[in-house]
Amino acid sequence: MTKVASVIHWFRLDLRLHDNLALRNAINEAENRKQILRPIYVIDPDIKNRVGCNRLRFLFQSLKNLDTSLRKINTRLYVIKGKAVECLPKLFDEWHVKFLTLQVDIDADLVKQDEVIEEFCEANNIFVVKRMQHTVYDFNSVVKKNNGSIPLTYQKFLSLVSDVQVKDIIQISKSVSDECKGNDYDSQDYDVPSLEEFGINESELSECKYPGGESEGLKRLDVYMAKKQWVCKFEKPKSSPNSIEPSTTVLSPYISHGCLSAKLFYHKLKQVESGSKHTLPPVSLMGQLMWREFYYTAGSGTKNFDKMEGNSVCTQIPWKKNDAHLKAWAEGKTGYPFVDAIMRQLKQEGWIHHLARHMVACFLTRGDLWISWEEGAKVFEDYLLDYDWSLNAGNWMWLSASAFFYKYYRVYSPIAFGKKTDKDGLYIRKYVPELKKYPSEFIYEPWKAPKGVQKTAGCVIGEGYPNRIVDHDKVHKENIQKMNAAYKINKEKKAMKRPRQ
Ligand code: FAD
Repeated sequence: MTKVASVIHWFRLDLRLHDNLALRNAINEAENRKQILRPIYVIDPDIKNRVGCNRLRFLFQSLKNLDTSLRKINTRLYVIKGKAVECLPKLFDEWHVKFLTLQVDIDADLVKQDEVIEEFCEANNIFVVKRMQHTVYDFNSVVKKNNGSIPLTYQKFLSLVSDVQVKDIIQISKSVSDECKGNDYDSQDYDVPSLEEFGINESELSECKYPGGESEGLKRLDVYMAKKQWVCKFEKPKSSPNSIEPSTTVLSPYISHGCLSAKLFYHKLKQVESGSKHTLPPVSLMGQLMWREFYYTAGSGTKNFDKMEGNSVCTQIPWKKNDAHLKAWAEGKTGYPFVDAIMRQLKQEGWIHHLARHMVACFLTRGDLWISWEEGAKVFEDYLLDYDWSLNAGNWMWLSASAFFYKYYRVYSPIAFGKKTDKDGLYIRKYVPELKKYPSEFIYEPWKAPKGVQKTAGCVIGEGYPNRIVDHDKVHKENIQKMNAAYKINKEKKAMKRPRQ
C-alpha cells in the first residue's frame, strides 16, 4: 500500500498563525494534493541547559497557545523531542514527507541546522519553501540595494527602506479539511511537554508577568495601539528605565518568539500615526521597530556577528576575564544598588527596560568591569524572555562601543543615571529589598551612610549587602584611557591593511 505523503510546516521563531505565509503555503499544498498536514516544533531536550527557566516557560506557553489555535482550524502542533538534524531526517522518511515550509531565521545555530536539513531534503526530493517573515523588510534586498554591503548606520538603513512598500499581512481563516489529518492526530506522544518533564518545578518560578503566546501578544499590541496619544508622543529617551510598571510596550518577548509579527506591529503603528502629529525615528515607537530591522540587516550580512573575533564590524578590545566580577554582576551583587536592582529584575522577570540594559551593559564592559560584551550577551541569552540573536549581539556591541556607537567616553554613572527618574529609589527598594529602609539620600550610595544609619536601616554594608566591587569614579576613567588605546591600535591596523596609493 502506498503511503499518503505529508506536508510539514516547521515552526521555529514564528509561533503564530497570523502573517505566516510559510504556514499557509503548507496548508495549501496539503489541501491541493490531499496530503497529511503536520505542523511541527522540534525541541532539543538539552534546551534547559541553554535557556533560563522563565524563557522556557514563555516558550511552552507559546507552544500551548499555538496548538490551541491550530486545533481551531482542524489541525494540531506535533512537538518532536530531539535534535533537529538527527530526528527530522528519520521523521521525514517515516511520514513520507514531500514538502517542507519554514521561515528564514538568521540565528547562527538555526542557519547551521538549516544547511543540514536542506541538504537532506535536496537529496530526498523534498521541496523546501522558505519565507522571509520575521522582519518588516527583506534584509537581503536591503543589503543588495546597498551594493552588497550592510548599512552601518541607522540613518543609512532608513534611507534604504524609505521607498519600500510593506506588503499587507495574510491571515489563515479557513479550516483544514479532515482528509489532511494524520491517523496520529490524537496521539499524546506529540503533545506540548510540561515544564516538569524538563526538570523545572513551575511553582518555584517567580510570578509570570508576561505569559507567552500569540493571543497574549495580540492582546498586548491592541492595548498599546489603543493609546493613540501615548503612541504619537512616544520618545524612547524620555521613558523611564526604573519605573515599577514598564514605561515601554514589552512587546519584545512576543516579537522575538514570533508570537507577534513585526509587520503587523508596523501596519498598526502606521494606522495610529496616520493623520496625527507624531514623533519620528529614532525616538518614536516606529523608530524602535526600525532599530530591530537595522540590527537584523546588520546581523544577516555579517559573519560571526555574535562574536568579537572574526567579526568585521566589531572593534577588537583587549577585555579581561574576571569570573568573580562577572558572577557578582550577573547575580546583582556588585554593591551598586541601581545595577543590582536591574540585574535582579532581569533574573526574576525576564525583561528590563532598554536604558536599564544600557546601564548594566556599560557597567560590565567599558564603564567599570572591563569584561567582554560576549560574556554579558551570554547572561542576557539565559535570562531575557525576548532574547534575540541579532538584537542581543548588535546592542551589546553598541553599548560596549565595539560597533555602531563610538563615543566611549560617555559612561553611565551607576549613581546619577537612575536618580534622574527615581530619586527616592523606589525601584531599588523593590528589587534590592535589603536596602528598602535606607534614607533616600543614601539609596544609590549606601556605603556613604554612617554606620548608625546603616544599622537603623537594618543592613550593614559588607554584611547584609556587598561592598562595591570596584570604585566607579576611579575605574571608569582608567577604562576610558584603555578604550582610547584600543581604538588607536585598531585604527593603525586598518590603515596598514588599506592599499597604498
Ligand atoms: P519598545 O520600546 O516598546 O519597542 C518596541 C519594539 O521595538 C521592541 O519590542 C523591539 O522589538 C524593538 N526594539 C526596541 N528597542 C530596540 C533596540 N534598541 N534594538 C532593536 N530592537 C528594538 N531586544 C530584543 O528584543 N532581544 C534582545 O536580545 C535584546 N538584547 C539587548 C541587549 C542590550 C545590551 C541592549 C542595550 C538592548 C537589547 N535589546 C534586545 C533591545 C531593547 O532593549 C529591547 O528590544 C526593548 O527594551 C524591548 O522592550 P519593549 O518591547 O518595551 O520596547
